[in-house]
Amino acid sequence: METIKRNVLLNPGPATTTDTVKMAQVVPDICPREKEFAGLMKGLRSDLLKVVHAPEDEYTSVLFCGSGTINIDVCINSLVPEGKKILVVNNGAYNTRAVEVCQMYHIPHINLKSSVYEQPDLKAVEQTLNDNPDVAVVYCCHHETGTGVLNPIREIGALAHSHGAIFVSDTTSTLGMIPLDVVKDNVDFCMASAQKGLMAMSGLSFVIGRKAIIEASKNYPTRSYYCNLYLQYEYFEKTGEMHFTPPVQTIYATIQALKEYFAEGETAKFARHRRVYEAIRRGVKELGFETVIDPKIESGLVVSVKYPDDPNWSFEKVHDYCYDRGFTIYPGKISTTNTFRLCALGAIDSKDIDDFFVVMQQALDHFEIKLK
Ligand SMILES: *Cc1c(COP(=O)(O)O)cnc(C)c1O
Repeated sequence: METIKRNVLLNPGPATTTDTVKMAQVVPDICPREKEFAGLMKGLRSDLLKVVHAPEDEYTSVLFCGSGTINIDVCINSLVPEGKKILVVNNGAYNTRAVEVCQMYHIPHINLKSSVYEQPDLKAVEQTLNDNPDVAVVYCCHHETGTGVLNPIREIGALAHSHGAIFVSDTTSTLGMIPLDVVKDNVDFCMASAQKGLMAMSGLSFVIGRKAIIEASKNYPTRSYYCNLYLQYEYFEKTGEMHFTPPVQTIYATIQALKEYFAEGETAKFARHRRVYEAIRRGVKELGFETVIDPKIESGLVVSVKYPDDPNWSFEKVHDYCYDRGFTIYPGKISTTNTFRLCALGAIDSKDIDDFFVVMQQALDHFEIKLK
């Protein structure tokens, strides 16, 4: 096999992949309408259920061709019944994206906004549900990738259920990294794209959710043609295929990535991401950077780092210096503070982080940036 230059991506996805996943895309040309390809997708859909411990008789996975945001669009436009509302528990940029989807489709919604530096207040969620019996869907992302805050989805899901609502969680930046059990975690619908926790390529996204609710949604208002959950599900059930052209090569890569996921194992993979995170936290501290989120509420997958006060600091220059040496750092997503992000996704280990901080120190010396 040819060697491919290895880059360490510290951005929040797409993540560093293994060479075997990269090479899995190089296959003989195939028409995705062949039975052989439908068979591959069947196995893939059932493996995705296993990643989140979803029982096959109650849950299904529905694939879409698009980046992760397509899942947010699909779930919101498809799962709100006529005359009902969706409650978005919003403490950051990715939950705000869900609010924007509601606005675009003119779907009645409540935007329960809270500080981006904190987890949502469960009492406020409960109060809002008590005051609004017409809420049919509660939505909250598991991990606010913009800050690194991990949200208490099991508790939010329980509140949704005790008020007769379903719970949809955007798990794009945790699925395959932080163990998730959809039944125990009270999640009716979750989602991700292949390029993040599964360490495959971009272009394939999927929603995992309760079959009975998808079937009931047949009678809900249809607000999109391409992105309707029931239509895509029904087509899969009838034919085993995606309604429209699938991202063929990405599907091959994802199948290989899932093999590697199960070989590494849920617990070992979680521990590896944790090691990487701890190496990031250690390095940040040693160099003298400040961070913005309390580690107690962090996912362990993203660290938001404050720009240093030194006038010599330039994110762009430091980024380019690191990029030229094989390391990618990423801008922040907090409107009130200037930050950049270091993420623990992908096929990397703590050694890569140690190597990164050597380069980061060189960059600081090179541009004469003082942190302490
Ligand atoms: C990455 C991500 C998405 C999807 O972003 P795309 O750019 O559309 O792939 C959605 N939600 C969260 C929480 C994410 O981290």
